[in-house]
Amino acid sequence: MAKHTPRRRPAKEEAANPSPGSPPPETSAGPAGAGEGAGAPHTPPAPEPPSAAFAPPLMPPDPGAPPGPPRESAPVPPPPKPAPLPAAELAELERAAAANAGAEAAARQEQPAPIVAGVSAGEAGAPAAPPAVPAASPVPSDQFLRPGIPRLSVVMLSPELAPVAKIGGLADVVAGLGRELELRGHDVEILLPKYDCLRWHHIQGLTPSYQDLWVPWYGGAIHTTVYHGTVHGRRCFFFEPHSNDRFFDRGKVYGEADDVLRFAFFCRAALEFLFKTGRQPDIIHCHDWQTALAPVLLYEIYEPLGLRHPRVCFTIHNFKHQGAGGDVVLRATGLNRPEHFFSRDRLGAGAPGQLNLMKGGIVYSNFVNTVSPTYAGEAKDRGGAFGLEGTLRAHERKYGGILNGLDQEVFNPETDPDLAAHYTAATIERKYDNKRALRQRLLLADNAKPIVAYIGRLDPQKGLDLVRHAIFYCINHGAQFVLLGSGAEPGIDRHFRAIKQQINENPDSHLEIGYSEQLAPLIYAGADLLIVPSRFEPCGLTQLIAMRYGTVPVVRAVGGLADTVFDKDYSDRPLHERNGYVFHHDNIGGLESALSRAIACYYQYPDHFRQLMLNAMRCDYSWNVPVQHYLNVYDFIRDK
Ligand code: ADP
Repeated sequence: MAKHTPRRRPAKEEAANPSPGSPPPETSAGPAGAGEGAGAPHTPPAPEPPSAAFAPPLMPPDPGAPPGPPRESAPVPPPPKPAPLPAAELAELERAAAANAGAEAAARQEQPAPIVAGVSAGEAGAPAAPPAVPAASPVPSDQFLRPGIPRLSVVMLSPELAPVAKIGGLADVVAGLGRELELRGHDVEILLPKYDCLRWHHIQGLTPSYQDLWVPWYGGAIHTTVYHGTVHGRRCFFFEPHSNDRFFDRGKVYGEADDVLRFAFFCRAALEFLFKTGRQPDIIHCHDWQTALAPVLLYEIYEPLGLRHPRVCFTIHNFKHQGAGGDVVLRATGLNRPEHFFSRDRLGAGAPGQLNLMKGGIVYSNFVNTVSPTYAGEAKDRGGAFGLEGTLRAHERKYGGILNGLDQEVFNPETDPDLAAHYTAATIERKYDNKRALRQRLLLADNAKPIVAYIGRLDPQKGLDLVRHAIFYCINHGAQFVLLGSGAEPGIDRHFRAIKQQINENPDSHLEIGYSEQLAPLIYAGADLLIVPSRFEPCGLTQLIAMRYGTVPVVRAVGGLADTVFDKDYSDRPLHERNGYVFHHDNIGGLESALSRAIACYYQYPDHFRQLMLNAMRCDYSWNVPVQHYLNVYDFIRDK
């Protein structure tokens, strides 16, 4: 457990503990009296008259659910006032957000010209013609499903892999997809940098596999050792360059000034390794911009040398980070020919001397997908690709969205070693033992309140202003709040640390600033609700994990969140498929419209809340369907 500042225990014992989803004791009258330690009055949102039009037969609308469509734009009560924040911290957060917005605006300026016919039609050095895959938005559909795919050999290139090098969801996806492909009899090898900060104890049998790989670099070559090891059964190759650049000895995965060169080197090394070892996989599956140069190198350098068989699937996990570089990337990797690559139908980013690696991945790969059908559409058609909308439209015939799956073995409340008590949908009462354990661990008051959680990177993408608002909203509206998060921007970390200091004495909240593999599962299991108020969300795994652990998600309807969470009161899905609370507007009113309904339901309609927990647990967000989509894509592009 990560360290946190101990705080005093609430002076008074709180109301009796309800089972998950069961009503608070009569005497507690909802949250009243539950917040003595907090010193704040707790009044549950006033119930509104249920509407016949929106009253489903088994789960009538929550008290907070107004009749008609969600009234996010209707006037909302003024938000509870958080204690004032240190001005310097606030300014820092705003500066960070402004810098980010500036970068995003700059990226948006790039509007690539339509692709020239030659690139996608097999001109010398260009990729094989893209497959005629049905257009995106949303994609794919069942038409991708085709039975009888032969055993395939798949090499994945990734900057992350759970649990050895995990920053976010990408790591889980590569691990889960790799496992699922193997379970279906396919051959999978995962290539990644040998970071000095790998979680070594998760790697078995790490030994040099290719001692003297000489990776072409700036006209010379870097001596590289490739190690083999298994990570939870997956066969992995780790690349260790021996040079003064110390590309992967930085104590971190990302966030270095020379990230573009670090990962350009990784791509060149990976292709050189495939070539030198005579591997001819059916599929090279690249993940995110860090590996986007691989298809460029494949079709521009290695295919003419004899690496003719592989076809490339490029999965974009987030359009926000694209890998911008200059001609140094071309010189270092040996691609050279700036006049060729700076062309806007290849890697040219619009601004003079600027290359966009993700764009290269899109142009040169045989199939491109992002990680949910809705995000695929948002990126291509609704300005969500940070400047690459035109490129996506030009290549839409080979572009789609495939929802991420969740590894059911790793995320399993029946076996998870970090839980205080194991449970299934049939024994959901035991979930409460985890709630109690979480409270003990975080020194939270043991009372009748629901626990609302946030787990995730502290990145502006995640809607941090709404996360911050939710902390105070929950404290003032009869709920406890737990946050586990860390950010790449020191200003944002500091901002949340300042909030933590402010509310440190409050027995109804705990903010854990940092990354903790052990604490996260206990929060998923111990919380009642999990908020994901993202500005945009390619897929989002936290809501999927929460549901697997019977924790009800409260999400903004964007990207993969819109594809996986269906509102209890307003969804047009059958009742048994409704699994959470959804809001649309990226503002406080939107968040409160959903959060208030969720908290009110917890107190006033415990049976419905419990049903929602069960619905969430019974959703199938396993890899079963997504892996079939990937296999059909692989099958579609191989031998094209
Ligand atoms: P993203 O990839 O944008 O970071 P996702 O929701 O797709 O977001 O995946 C986040 C993954 O990282 C989840 O497995 C989540 O539990 C985990 N995670 C995020 N932040 C933390 C943290 N501070 N401590 C532990 N796990 C975290």
